[in-house]
Amino acid sequence: MGFRPHVYTRATRLGLTGFVGNDSAGVFIELQGEIDRIVAFESELQSQPPPLAQIETYSSIEVDFVQGDSGFLILESETVAAGHTSISPDIATCDACLAEMLDPADRRYRYPFVNCTNCGPRFTIIRGTPYDRPQTTMATFTMCAACQSEYDSPSNRRFHAQPNACPVCGPRLTYLEEGTEVCSDGTALQAACDALAQGKIIAIKGIGGFHLAVRANDEVAVTRLRERKHRWAKPLAIMVRDIASACMFASISVDEARVLEGHARPIVLLRRSRDETTLAAQIAPGTNEVGVMLPYSGLHALLMQASGPLVMTSGNLSNEPILWRNEDALDKLKGIADAFLLHDRDIHVPCDDSVVRICGADELPIRRSRGYAPLPVRLWHPGPSVLAVGAELKSTFCLTQQNHAFLSQHIGDMESYETLTAFERALAHFQGIFRATPDVVACDLHPGYLSSRWAREYAATHSLPLVEVQHHHAHLCSAMAEHGLDPDTPILGIIFDGTGYGTDGAIWGGEILLGNYDGFERVMHLRYTPMPGGDASIRHPYRMALAHLWAAGVPWDHQLPCVANVPDSELTILARQLQTNFGCSPTSSIGRLFDAAAALIGVRQTAQYEAQAAIELEAISATVSTAMPYPVEICDGKIDARPIIRALAEELLSGVPRGILASRFHRTIVETIVVAAAQAREATGIGIVALSGGVMQNATVATLACIQLRTRGFRVLQQQSVPANDGGIALGQAAIAVRKMQRGGL
Ligand code: ZN
Ligand code: ZN
Ligand code: FE
Repeated sequence: MGFRPHVYTRATRLGLTGFVGNDSAGVFIELQGEIDRIVAFESELQSQPPPLAQIETYSSIEVDFVQGDSGFLILESETVAAGHTSISPDIATCDACLAEMLDPADRRYRYPFVNCTNCGPRFTIIRGTPYDRPQTTMATFTMCAACQSEYDSPSNRRFHAQPNACPVCGPRLTYLEEGTEVCSDGTALQAACDALAQGKIIAIKGIGGFHLAVRANDEVAVTRLRERKHRWAKPLAIMVRDIASACMFASISVDEARVLEGHARPIVLLRRSRDETTLAAQIAPGTNEVGVMLPYSGLHALLMQASGPLVMTSGNLSNEPILWRNEDALDKLKGIADAFLLHDRDIHVPCDDSVVRICGADELPIRRSRGYAPLPVRLWHPGPSVLAVGAELKSTFCLTQQNHAFLSQHIGDMESYETLTAFERALAHFQGIFRATPDVVACDLHPGYLSSRWAREYAATHSLPLVEVQHHHAHLCSAMAEHGLDPDTPILGIIFDGTGYGTDGAIWGGEILLGNYDGFERVMHLRYTPMPGGDASIRHPYRMALAHLWAAGVPWDHQLPCVANVPDSELTILARQLQTNFGCSPTSSIGRLFDAAAALIGVRQTAQYEAQAAIELEAISATVSTAMPYPVEICDGKIDARPIIRALAEELLSGVPRGILASRFHRTIVETIVVAAAQAREATGIGIVALSGGVMQNATVATLACIQLRTRGFRVLQQQSVPANDGGIALGQAAIAVRKMQRGGL
């Protein structure tokens, strides 16, 4: 990062001598000069920290100064046997670099790999630490004299910029069709843009992996991309040139613009303008949102200049991790992409685009990856090293070292051999760069998860203790850890989720917990409903609707969409299953209640991707500005969904529009949160509430619940730096295991 050059510039300007370097304790600066100048330096560094630098702790001591040199020196990094080295995430190209790239007089004019100490790839090119050029994938490029002199000059913006490069000495683009190179450098970019204009699908190598790109206004091309990728419904992200271009089809708040333009450059889920026709309808069917990102590399900026908005979806096969090596992409994507735009700077660590949603002024992470990973979360106290392996979907892992918890980039759904391989590779890399060897392993309580099986085997092979953590307890502790809460304070957790294995073997997901890292008590939960066929119900929301109707004693009226769309033979089997409880798992999942509501009112009967029914239900609810909640009934610690289901069915049959029903359902979930929190506070005296679980990514629920809880005097912990979904669960598992080790419980 640009820390050392900044220190150099400031110290030199103040006429101080000394040096700055890195050792096992972090960055140290030694200064010699008049005391008031040193004080001035200190206060300047604290009040205006260098861009991208995070000053975690700060202390100064007086030392006997024996360095004989004059001037201010920057020392080589020490290779340290143990201790924490900080690794920066990848940073979007800065304005100074973009200006050079667009200046015909500059030697980097139209050079797509422009970067400096303030920007460029970091995490994805680092092979080892300390972070110096030989330890990156730039090692194979020898700097030309001009680049070397920038690199060596402490006052230059590119002083020690490890990926420093130019058209003479740096990485190059190539354009390939049918596996054969057609052209390279500047013409490669033009060829790719021409192909996009013709409606072709281009695989483009970026910072953390490949994208598959098509023009975002080309309905035929977008449909072809979906067909070839077998991705029928899940929304596709798009890249646009700037905020003004995004305003053509989406409404953007000041906070959304800030995050879109920020140096992490995530995909931001924006509200699509009503009746807009600039984008192909197939980009995000059934939703009122669209995922948008701005260019984050020179290559992207040049692409955006030459073409309009592009669909930029991860270059992978369905259910497999993102591709990052040229040879693998050429092989695996050849049936999907018509052409390839490659470059010869290797990606060492694949890293998907991050996804966030903005609620009010707050950033809610949906997927925490490029631009964020591997920034650590600070734990309350240094502890043993823990490896927590997460759950199953949207998997990440967490490796702790002293008081830092490093959450990995997004790995994917841990259901395939390919994802497991990506997980193992990413883990080996984290262990290397953070020099951490686990003392203990943590995993989900679910016996069948691939991650849990892997963890059991790993713990056995390495003779390490294993901590199995209940899924929703981990969600609660993820929120606690993110907010740096004192481990001795018990808090309330309202964990509304899809599915998680409960301590009683049931499928949980509508839980009010009281607890902390030491343990939890289940204070309230959604009353159990049978889930016929277990996981099959997740893909078929109408099954959940029928189960909830059955539980509520509402007859399966053929006027109800969830009944009308099901063949009689299947209805007979389901009825029999529910009566005999055969093949039914009891569930308290709020995620499944969303599915049931969506199917019941006719929004979606079968889901093609996770949470599709809930996402579409939220989109429909957003068409209505206010609606009354249904009465919330909580009796003996059980939240009763039956009155909600009865009311929905009754109102639907009496002709109330779906938008109003969807909106009333959302308000009822919010009301449930508020009533449950109030009851739990009365019973326990605790007024701190963590909101977590996948349902908390529903913007309507999260926003309203936060406002209403705060109005009632609660301190609300919302997940803002790690996802509330299972992508954040490894952090909670890790915190629980650290605490258990510290207390001698293992
Ligand atoms: Zn730059
Ligand atoms: Zn050069
Ligand atoms: Fe979960």
